[in-house]
Amino acid sequence: MESIRGRLTLWYATALILSLAVFAVVLYLARRRASYQDLDSRIQSEADLTAGILAESYRARGVLVEPDTANRPVLISEVAAVLEVVPDYLVLTSRDGRLLFASPDARALTFAEFERLTALVAHTPPGGSRAPGRHQVGPNGPTLHYVIRDIPQAGGQFGALFAGADTRSAELGLQQLVSTIVVAFVIGLVPAVLVGRWLAGRALEPVDQMITEVREITDGRTLHRRLAVPMVKDELARLAETLNQMMTRLERSFAALRRFTADASHELKTPLTVVRAGVERAITRPDVPQETLAALEETLQEVNRMTELLDSLLTLARADEGRAELHREPVDLRGIVTEAGETGDLLADHAGVTMEIRTPPDPVVLAVDRSRVRQLVLNLIENAVKYTPRGGQVSVQLSANDGQILLTVADSGIGIAPGDLPHIFDRFWRADSARTRTGARPGTGLGLAISKWIAEAHGGAIEVQSRPGRGTTFTVTFPRGDA
Ligand code: ADP
Repeated sequence: MESIRGRLTLWYATALILSLAVFAVVLYLARRRASYQDLDSRIQSEADLTAGILAESYRARGVLVEPDTANRPVLISEVAAVLEVVPDYLVLTSRDGRLLFASPDARALTFAEFERLTALVAHTPPGGSRAPGRHQVGPNGPTLHYVIRDIPQAGGQFGALFAGADTRSAELGLQQLVSTIVVAFVIGLVPAVLVGRWLAGRALEPVDQMITEVREITDGRTLHRRLAVPMVKDELARLAETLNQMMTRLERSFAALRRFTADASHELKTPLTVVRAGVERAITRPDVPQETLAALEETLQEVNRMTELLDSLLTLARADEGRAELHREPVDLRGIVTEAGETGDLLADHAGVTMEIRTPPDPVVLAVDRSRVRQLVLNLIENAVKYTPRGGQVSVQLSANDGQILLTVADSGIGIAPGDLPHIFDRFWRADSARTRTGARPGTGLGLAISKWIAEAHGGAIEVQSRPGRGTTFTVTFPRGDA
């Protein structure tokens, strides 16, 4: 179960099933007890009724036993006819244990079963038992609840009176009860689980809302947002408050970090400018020895690279602080692309790469920050040339349709591994193949981070497609209406 909602529903359903099961068992046991009590009181009253009839008949007639045609003693037919209507199992024996009467149910038993029944009556000590007993007559025969009693009021002609009833009559009601419970269980469970799921969903709705709100806080620039704290001061309200406090702390440390980066870059710029001016002045002196000149040139290169790095850092820090303003004005983007393309041409010539620039015949006018967009185009062209081996090709294309303006910079270079693609816009990230600051492909790993910021600051987006060894295509889109 992936979600809390699913788990809650599962727990709820399990708890429901368990409590229903307990309820059903208790109900079943109580009902069963009551059924057997009913059965027992029924056989008691049947026994009492029969004993009453016999006592009454004895008072009226005296003799109740007569010999039948085979000279065996039987109950006189008038009384037997009355007892015929008594339901269930009724057996009467004489004092010497002979059978005097058996009710129709008893007579319906098989011979062996009937024998077991009469044996049970015969073996009961005189005086009988008033507490009901339980006996199964034969392996396949019915199980009976019974009482056996004597009938002293009937003139001592009878040994014992057996009254019993089949337990099936009590079980029948119980079976109906079980099937009713099962049906109610199945019919009731589905809606109950659905309601449980709905309730869990409702209870967790604020959590979903929080997830959405937290998801929207994607980077340092959205850290100022706060979650809505529910009015009721429950656990979720406390969670929202705790998250808000955490975001306040994060925002503070982010701000401190940005400030530090901006301040450090700014502070370093002035001494670096002084160093550069000094080195440039020293280089131009005619009396500089050859080996010192080489060292000075290397220093100057390094100082230029550091200045570039500081500029990039400062741009990003200002962008993070929201202080990097765009000076937008309507510009024909074809001019910017051609201009950047000319610089790119020089680089491409030097790197032995052919370069192709295609722009549409009509002006592509958009309100943009000219120098930022130029920086973006140049960054992409420089990268394309830098990561394309000699003999390769770079093509830059500007196109426009109704909704948006597209700029693609495609190269036939080394490409980017699929695993690296998600990281290339991260700050200071460089692929392993590019990881030398001063080697054949010098760089800082900040170019694409800045390019992404420039595209997004203009309401646009930047995407990349690449296949290792085949080449890379960067696509920048600017919305026409927005920019
Ligand atoms: P860098 O200064 O290293 O060029 P970027 O931010 O411009 O920094 O690029 C980040 C990384 O993305 C590069 O180090 C390189 O590994 C990869 N990359 C960028 N552009 C291309 C390209 N056109 N072809 C192949 N890899 C590229």
